[in-house]
Amino acid sequence: MRRNSRGLDLSDPLCLEELNRGLQAALRRDWSAHPLIGGRAIDGEARTVTDPADRRRRVGQSVWARPEQAEAALATAHAAFPGWAATPAEQRAACLERIADAYEAHTHDFMALCTREAGKTLADGIAEVREAVDFCRYYAAQARRLFAEPETMPGPTGEHNALSLHGRGVFVCISPWNFPLAIFTGQVVAALAAGNAVIAKPAEQTTLIAALAVRLMHEAGIPPGVLNLLPGDGATLGPTLVSDRRTAGIAFTGSTETAWLINRGLAERRGPIVPLIAETGGQNAMIVDSTALPEQVVRDAVQSAFYSAGQRCSALRVIYLQQDIAERVTTMLRGALAELDIGDPALLATDVGPVIDTDARDTLEAHASKMTAAGRLIARAQLPGDTAHGTFVAPALFRIDSIKELEREVFGPMLHIAHWRAGELDRVVDDINATGYGLTLGVHSRIDETVERVVKRARAGNIYVNRNMIGAVVGTQPFGGEGLSGTGFKAGGPHYLLRFSTERVVAVDT
Ligand code: GLU
Repeated sequence: MRRNSRGLDLSDPLCLEELNRGLQAALRRDWSAHPLIGGRAIDGEARTVTDPADRRRRVGQSVWARPEQAEAALATAHAAFPGWAATPAEQRAACLERIADAYEAHTHDFMALCTREAGKTLADGIAEVREAVDFCRYYAAQARRLFAEPETMPGPTGEHNALSLHGRGVFVCISPWNFPLAIFTGQVVAALAAGNAVIAKPAEQTTLIAALAVRLMHEAGIPPGVLNLLPGDGATLGPTLVSDRRTAGIAFTGSTETAWLINRGLAERRGPIVPLIAETGGQNAMIVDSTALPEQVVRDAVQSAFYSAGQRCSALRVIYLQQDIAERVTTMLRGALAELDIGDPALLATDVGPVIDTDARDTLEAHASKMTAAGRLIARAQLPGDTAHGTFVAPALFRIDSIKELEREVFGPMLHIAHWRAGELDRVVDDINATGYGLTLGVHSRIDETVERVVKRARAGNIYVNRNMIGAVVGTQPFGGEGLSGTGFKAGGPHYLLRFSTERVVAVDT
């Protein structure tokens, strides 16, 4: 049976000692990323990559691809596709399993990069590696299940009818910085498992992690032309990749706005009609009734809203508290906010690290200023003095009347509190649905009928009851939303690979 990765046990002193040694070595290294086309590293003007926790600290350097290199990558991947599509599914699956093993062997390198390049805490770094490893093993198992043998179809025709799945061609995988290893890997290995050639375009902010991942994938046996890496500017490379007839599908995780742009680009080209698999934003809420356990609510809300500096699509943005317990829970949330350990994500004690860059910080601070000026601020944490050289944002609590007041997803450590009264439950769910997003939803209640009522009425892809709302587990809690939050199928679920493939039927007269 396939098992999920166990990760690291930080309560084990031996494991901690090894982690420290591995991290220190990885932190001292200077990392690099290049466009990689057919296994050839392309040189060019290098940009210095710095640490979001302290912008004076260099992490490495990244060479960004130019549009003509996107052309070259398309030609290379297109030429490599038939060979990979003809490779038996079993061999493709075995390659993915070797990638998983290689990732586990490089856990410390990936954790160091998650921390220094993406500002993630060590706990988040461990979770990233685990999730990436799980994607590899899970999609390997799915590739064997779906692609190994054609399915014989029943029927009265007297013929032998066989249905089989195949790769579509060149898949362009565009991944975000908030899960620079897990989502990057999930998209790429899903496309590869289904028999596609891949052009991977990682987020501008996290190219070093992607470069290490691709190196390990090639070493594990993915042929060089089958997997090409294009670090670089999305706005520059995107139009070439999207408009080219050789692009047979796009997997994208990022903002809803960018998904619309890609969709439009695909619609405008005169070429094959191809799938866009988009996982986009959310406007995620938690509904808490007066029977909920306040301690549990506060723990789950804090983890969901502030851990990972709120930079998860799944993160909690609006907590709806039933009037009777609202004051008590709010007081406890204020207390918890003051207790958060904000600072260097490389320290084990840190709860909240930096946000990814100055643009993210400025957008969040603009929101905080607007809310504060409108008299909506309930509490804000204090940033410690040693955060001055990084892009840190102090976690905040705001009061709102309804989720409808938030025009956009607030992608950072900011939680909004709204109240509701008995009799208003359906209206609250309808307001949440009316945002058009449908990613995660939390419910805290000890009354089964209340939970059932919310679950039945809600339109959200992942609903969490009496727990936090983050950290969906591959193969157990397939992840992804509906409406403005994405197209499906869910990542880490049994149908995901279907979107990366095309079906053929062969009917033979017997
Ligand atoms: N799968 C992640 C989770 O469950 C969120 C992914 C994202 O932020 O895109 O927390």
